[in-house]
Amino acid sequence: MEKIKMTNPIVEMDGDEMTRVLWQMIKDELICPYVELNTEYYDLGLQNRDATGDRVTHEAGEAIKKWHVGVKCATITPNAQRVEEYGLHEMWKSPNGTIRSILDGTVFRAPIMVSRIKPVVKTWKKPITIARHAYGDIYRNVEYRVERPGKAELVFTADSGEELFRETVHDFAGPGVIQGVHNRDASIVSFARACFEYALSVGQDLWFSTKDTISKQYDQTFKILFQKVFDEEYAARFEEAGLKYFYTLIDDAVARVIRSEGGFVWACKNYDGDVMSDMVSTAFGSLAMMTSVLVSPDGNFEYEAAHGTVTRHWYRYRESGRMTSTNPVATIFAWSGALRKRGELDGSGELCAFADRLESATLSAIEDGIMTGDLAALAEGGGIRSVDSAEFIAEIASRLG
Ligand code: NAP
Ligand code: MG
Repeated sequence: MEKIKMTNPIVEMDGDEMTRVLWQMIKDELICPYVELNTEYYDLGLQNRDATGDRVTHEAGEAIKKWHVGVKCATITPNAQRVEEYGLHEMWKSPNGTIRSILDGTVFRAPIMVSRIKPVVKTWKKPITIARHAYGDIYRNVEYRVERPGKAELVFTADSGEELFRETVHDFAGPGVIQGVHNRDASIVSFARACFEYALSVGQDLWFSTKDTISKQYDQTFKILFQKVFDEEYAARFEEAGLKYFYTLIDDAVARVIRSEGGFVWACKNYDGDVMSDMVSTAFGSLAMMTSVLVSPDGNFEYEAAHGTVTRHWYRYRESGRMTSTNPVATIFAWSGALRKRGELDGSGELCAFADRLESATLSAIEDGIMTGDLAALAEGGGIRSVDSAEFIAEIASRLG
């Protein structure tokens, strides 16, 4: 059989620990036998980030801008313990954060559904994708702990020196707390564009929610800008695709999401997205079945698994030399997502079809009861065989062949 050719490369970002082991196995056994894999390789493993002074992460981000499609393995975000464990020169920043700031992207998290794992919410039949705004709000706040009586004010001074706004936040008679948060129109607009583009690309409705009834300037700004971007740039395309843009209050959205069948994209402000993505992914079953894609407003796509490097499994694997039962599904779907997007952008139906086959081979193994331990613990129905990662990947390979 002739291998599928690729016109343009995918930016491949290798990573750490157990997911680095899975990464190699997925390439060797599931992709390279069928595709003449064309990647621009960046080793984001912690040792190489340290050796290059983290230059490699910046180069990988720039490469995604050039080639428009990337796939990333999970990586360690170092803390004090990792600095000691790996003898690092510095406590390097989160690679995901670095790449996100280079691409100015929005992260979409979508569950991979299989019929044997039932969502906790019984009505959910289709995936719910959470789009989280990744700028501002409480993540870039200014806080002050008030210890003595006094007045807290919100003041805005224009660059000209003119004071345009001053209002009392609170007259404190005793101890308390205050907080200042901000956002930028430009960031909200690019978030909105990324959400509308993504919804069109997956053919799903877009929901957006804030608390504009209470926050009459702050949240209201989000609501107005989303509506403006929709009306001016997307209304016609949504109509043509038979899709809807639906705005509602965050508390109403939560109630509707729980009663829904799923099958839509839910755009959330930064904090709402932080909380709701953990709730939704847990309710769908497992973090190991959650994919994540970073989409930038100018059309760059970076695919990865939502989980980390699975350190506990890595230590076990390294100590015993025995394969663990670590779930490779989200990492396989990161690859299939990147291959499909590459195929779409390059007009290669063959590559898109291979991505589909890879996903169905993976899902059919699970439907037939062959799965890693984390899923076996949750799955319903008979004939379940809990296997290690190598056996699971071999099973997928045999279904692909
Ligand atoms: P984690 O790697 O997601 O693992 C947490 C636990 O979840 C595991 O110990 C395992 O539970 C379970 N799990 C996660 N993925 C699994 C899979 N594919 N198959 C089976 N079980 C899975 O999170 P962490 O231990 O908090 O973080 C480890 C490292 O990953 C850290 O250094 C962190 O910086 C990094 N991280 C990277 C990313 C990223 O690159 N996007 C994201 C998050 C974390 P059991 O042990 O109970 O089996
Ligand atoms: Mg969270």
